[in-house]
Amino acid sequence: MAKESKGKKPHKNKKTSKKYTMYKIEGDKITREKSCPRCGPGVFLMKADNRLYCGKCHLTEFVAKKRSFEKQKE
Ligand SMILES: [Zn+2]
Repeated sequence: MAKESKGKKPHKNKKTSKKYTMYKIEGDKITREKSCPRCGPGVFLMKADNRLYCGKCHLTEFVAKKRSFEKQKE
C-alpha cells in the first residue's frame, strides 16, 4: 500500500550480443573466429592470453604462440 507503484516495471536494456563481432566480411567472403569444436559452429571461443575458452561447455583450448618458441624436436 505504502509502496509507490506505477504499474510498469523499469525497463532494462539487454546487453547486445557481441556475436556479430566474430564475423568478418572480406569482399564476398565471410570469415569466422574460431568456434567451439564441441558445441559446433555458432559458439565461439573466448580469447585469452594463450588459450581459447568456450563459455558454453567450458572447453579450454591452448594456443601455442608461434613466435615465442619455434618448432622444437618432438
Ligand atoms: Zn563449447
